Amino acid sequence: MAELPNMKMNKNEMPTQDPKVRAHNFEEVALGYDEAVAIDEAKRCLNCVNMPCVSGCPVKVRIPEFIAKIKEGDFEGAYQVISETSSLPAVCGRVCPQETQCESKCVRGIKGEPVGIGRLERFVADFHNAHDGKKEKVPKSNGHKVAVVGSGPSGLTCAGDLARKGYKVTVFEALHKAGGVLVYGIPEFRLPKSIVQKEIDKLESMGVKIETNIVIGKTLTIDELFESGFEAVFVGSGAGLPRFMGIKGEGLNGVYSANEFLTRANLMKSYKTDATTPVMKGGKVAVVGGGNVAMDAARTALRLGAEKVYIVYRRSMEELPARKEEVEHAIEEGVEFKLLNNPVEVLGYNNPNDKRDPKNGFVRAIRCIKMELGEPDEQGRRRPVEVQGSEFELEVDSVIMSIGTSPNPLIKATTRGLDTNKWGGIIVEENTGKTSKEGVYAGGDAVTGAATVISAMGAGKVAADAIDKYLTSK
Ligand SMILES: Cc1cc2nc3c(=O)[nH]c(=O)nc-3n(C[C@H](O)[C@H](O)[C@H](O)COP(=O)(O)OP(=O)(O)OC[C@H]3O[C@@H](n4cnc5c(N)ncnc54)[C@H](O)[C@@H]3O)c2cc1C
Repeated sequence: MAELPNMKMNKNEMPTQDPKVRAHNFEEVALGYDEAVAIDEAKRCLNCVNMPCVSGCPVKVRIPEFIAKIKEGDFEGAYQVISETSSLPAVCGRVCPQETQCESKCVRGIKGEPVGIGRLERFVADFHNAHDGKKEKVPKSNGHKVAVVGSGPSGLTCAGDLARKGYKVTVFEALHKAGGVLVYGIPEFRLPKSIVQKEIDKLESMGVKIETNIVIGKTLTIDELFESGFEAVFVGSGAGLPRFMGIKGEGLNGVYSANEFLTRANLMKSYKTDATTPVMKGGKVAVVGGGNVAMDAARTALRLGAEKVYIVYRRSMEELPARKEEVEHAIEEGVEFKLLNNPVEVLGYNNPNDKRDPKNGFVRAIRCIKMELGEPDEQGRRRPVEVQGSEFELEVDSVIMSIGTSPNPLIKATTRGLDTNKWGGIIVEENTGKTSKEGVYAGGDAVTGAATVISAMGAGKVAADAIDKYLTSK
């Protein structure tokens, strides 16, 4: 007789580092399930015939099937099921917003908490990596050459899928390290760099060549890639161009974009005392914005030794776009939320008695105005409205602007016949990623603007299939 499911209402808790300790180190916050807990959690899955969870996954991982393998203790078998559709399970198990995707469709979520699908995915991937699981075979070459621009999740997925089909793939990356936002944006305490590196090593072992420090549009153009023998190009260059508020004082020393701040902390090791690219040290920090990027910047600032970190957000907790788990972690670690506040000016030191005062030109405060929520906007979110006469100063030493990013216009400006929309996103055909330029495909944030890891991976997959069809039919 089949074993009855585990009808516990709540997910097994994810063990985490103590908030007081972790607020001062860069080690991973969530520690992962062990084998017994993973099996117990897997037993909460009802193995529904119509698999609603799969419909919530942008890459259609066969979720009940991999969970069934965990129940049997066949963890490597579970990994093989996931890796048939997802090339980055250790990453997705950590950073995917499962609560709005697969887990939001889980039947167990109707009365209680959904199955911890993300936590199980992470467990399976970590088990595979720790036990040096089955290696992928090096595919036989089909002789075709494809270039991939950008080594984020969309580029890596596209490169992996094409390599598995026998293509000779070269990934061109502008930075000195491959991985895109997974290495320069998402901090070590949420996604250890070694995990991303393992995925990159896997691709290289399949024959994918990764060329770093090459900016497409400057070092080489897309047209030059074609001239040098590539037959198709996938553009996965992300949306790394930061937006600013356009308020007075944003040019002062001590004002950063979240992208610059996180890149310096993550990739350039600015937290080391001998770093050549130092970023803020100590003091009070205001992070402006309420998304995942803002949470990452705030928690990184704490770990870099800030004495106080504020999130300044113009709406209320209810509208905060960041993942609930990240907000909870930030609060536990001591980040203070200044909600319904909007900065109107960054104020700097300007000592009239001593023009050589080293503090001159540095941030001393932000001037904010209080907000209240008015009528809903086009997306149904209540619009923040200024409360007249409510301005006040918040004393800070650094300001991190985290109010969004858009695709960098460089590739569009240097590629003949590549159409983009008014936000700079590359225009593509929905089911193929095909652009207006022959042989050029695109996906991920470069098309959609800032989105998610899994949607970028999904787009990389779609484009790899389309490129394969295009080149085999040529
Ligand atoms: C701080 C932060 C935290 C986030 N947290 C989450 C999260 O928890 N969960 C989630 O799902 N999503 C999260 N996201 C969003 C997610 O990381 C992105 O949606 C995803 O990485 C997009 O993938 P991509 O491949 O399109 O681009 P990217 O990851 O941005 O990679 C693009 C790559 O292309 C390179 N590049 C750009 N221009 C050129 C050029 N001209 N030539 C060569 N290379 C170029 C860039 O250097 C970069 O390495 C976060 C984003 C940030 C910034």
